[in-house]
Amino acid sequence: NKQVILKDYVTGFPKESDMQVINGTMKLKLQEGSHGIVVKNLYLSCDPYMRIRMTRVEGPNVLTSYTPGSPLTGFGVAKVLDSGHPNFKKGDLIWGTTSWEEYSLITELEGLFKIEHTDVPLSYYTGILGMPGLTAYAGFYEVCSPKKGEYLFISAASGAVGQLVGQFAKLMGCYVVGCAGSKEKVDLLRNKFGFDEAFNYKEETDLDGALKRYFPEGIDIYFENVGGKMLDAVLLNMRDHGRIAVCGMVSQYNLAQPEGVQNLMCLIFKRIHMDGFAFFDYYNVYPKLLDVVLPYIREGKIKYVEDIAEGLENGPAALVGLYSGRNVGKQVVLIARE
Ligand code: NDP
Repeated sequence: NKQVILKDYVTGFPKESDMQVINGTMKLKLQEGSHGIVVKNLYLSCDPYMRIRMTRVEGPNVLTSYTPGSPLTGFGVAKVLDSGHPNFKKGDLIWGTTSWEEYSLITELEGLFKIEHTDVPLSYYTGILGMPGLTAYAGFYEVCSPKKGEYLFISAASGAVGQLVGQFAKLMGCYVVGCAGSKEKVDLLRNKFGFDEAFNYKEETDLDGALKRYFPEGIDIYFENVGGKMLDAVLLNMRDHGRIAVCGMVSQYNLAQPEGVQNLMCLIFKRIHMDGFAFFDYYNVYPKLLDVVLPYIREGKIKYVEDIAEGLENGPAALVGLYSGRNVGKQVVLIARE
């Protein structure tokens, strides 16, 4: 049973060599009377928050540290090989929390969902129909209070979450601008996802100036994925009563000292709502997501771009690639086809 383990806690930018692929020896048999399940992992999801779990997380936190020497855990898609739980049976496909290994014995079944719709790619349950999809759906519809015609800006816009938020917003009739870190990604935003405008933030020396160019009348909604300097520039360009949905701050995850944000007084002057949110408060919305988004996928109304690395041994490189923007679209690791 091949596994990806964390060697030790990480400081600074994570490297492939912070992880190691080993042959695990743990027994994968269910104990007599166990309510757990044994699964074959098919797809693993690379998610930016995983970097935070590679440090020793101190104090009360919704994220717990990984244990050096043990496999990483995260979201994935898997097939049930054996089950001691009445809700799951052999052959079921599931998505939810699993480990970075070929086969897993899962005893915490709370975060697992049975996959009912298999006419779409199974890997989508690590993305548009999984945790990032729920994040985009709940973040946009429940947190941003969007209205037709509003001006919306998204950072890390071509990624797993951003590409969806932009398309949801276009379907609602918003004016949507996204930023991303390469020409290829900017082209995707404009040509594939149908954003009104897009720019490469790495080519802008003056982010405030860039935002003024794309939003001469200001921003109603900012979907925040990166934090730091971008947030500072956005605050200067928000309209009165604007909303900022704070989804993530990926530019800060590798810094020992997070960057200070200078322009928070704008929250007062412009009476801005700035709300942090986390997908796990919105599992109740997931059935709604399936009702709305599955038809969008089937009818081609939403496009979803994935970046699939093949094989568990390529998992560490795929994961660290999130922090240099190597991924184009949702980063997934393919472990096995069904
Ligand atoms: P992505 O697929 O967008 O991958 C991460 C991207 O972030 C990279 O491709 C890169 O794109 C960009 N990036 C990396 N480093 C920097 C940097 N220093 N400055 C600016 N951009 C950077 O990831 P997701 O869509 O999965 O996640 C997006 C955000 O949402 C993250 O902040 C994540 O933590 C957060 N999140 C929050 C959840 C919640 O419940 N609140 C749940 C899921 C995700 P580029 O080339 O454009 O720079």
